[in-house]
Amino acid sequence: MKLLILGGTGDARELANALVNSGHDVTSSLAGRTLDPLLPQGSVRIGGFGGVPRLRSYLLEEKFDWVIDATHPYAADMSNQACLAAELAGMRFLRLERPGWTAPAEAIWVGFPTIAAAIDAVPPGYRAFVTSGHESLDRLERRPECFFLVRLIEAPEHGLPDNAQLLLARPPYRLKDEIALMREYEISHLITKNSGSTQTRAKIDAAAALHVVTYIVGRPKLAFAKTVTSIAQALAYIHGDAA
Ligand code: NAP
Repeated sequence: MKLLILGGTGDARELANALVNSGHDVTSSLAGRTLDPLLPQGSVRIGGFGGVPRLRSYLLEEKFDWVIDATHPYAADMSNQACLAAELAGMRFLRLERPGWTAPAEAIWVGFPTIAAAIDAVPPGYRAFVTSGHESLDRLERRPECFFLVRLIEAPEHGLPDNAQLLLARPPYRLKDEIALMREYEISHLITKNSGSTQTRAKIDAAAALHVVTYIVGRPKLAFAKTVTSIAQALAYIHGDAA
């Protein structure tokens, strides 16, 4: 079969590798945000499609059997556009979306609708570990009375203000390292999306162990689509083995 995987996640890479190893013709699509991305097996195309009509045309030209949305749960625009374009192209569509994390027993979790709201809510004088990506980082300079440790895979285009320190790193992260990092920087608050990834889960457990308050930004609502929550389920569904 010929499949398009909308990627940019570890799960998307793993799924692409598994499908290639089962003999399928797989194209993975990346947005092109990361300069040096980890690439899956199979073909890779990089860059936006230019909206729903162009994505629909691309799907029809390439004659895919399946479109698999394995983007990050917060990449809502791509997910919704892909769902619509696949529908318009009459193509089978499946979303792979890991369940979100649930709070560990000792955790102190506070929910926020946006990263900006979470940044604004850090109490004056406190020290937050920001792991929510590049979005809303311009907000940090409005909080000069707080310190922010910002962890990213790549440096932000416009730098960070004086009250923030950049830490460049790539998952996976280990619990003992996350605990050591939060201790070293005397972190009081963690700002994170609820990605549900096992590769980045350690910060959640570290925060709970250290009684660091976790500001958790809620997932966006996505268009209704058939959704599976693991690579094994995705493979079973695609191969027609799922109940
Ligand atoms: P987004 O806001 O949902 O998408 C914005 C636009 O970027 C889309 O309309 C599309 O452009 C293009 N795009 C996004 N994902 C694409 C893909 N896989 N292939 C081709 N074009 C894509 O996306 P985002 O939140 O910026 O995320 C961008 C990428 O980073 C995604 O692949 C996602 O899986 C990955 N990622 C995101 C997060 C996160 O927290 N959002 C975290 C880790 C990884 P056109 O309209 O021109 O087609």
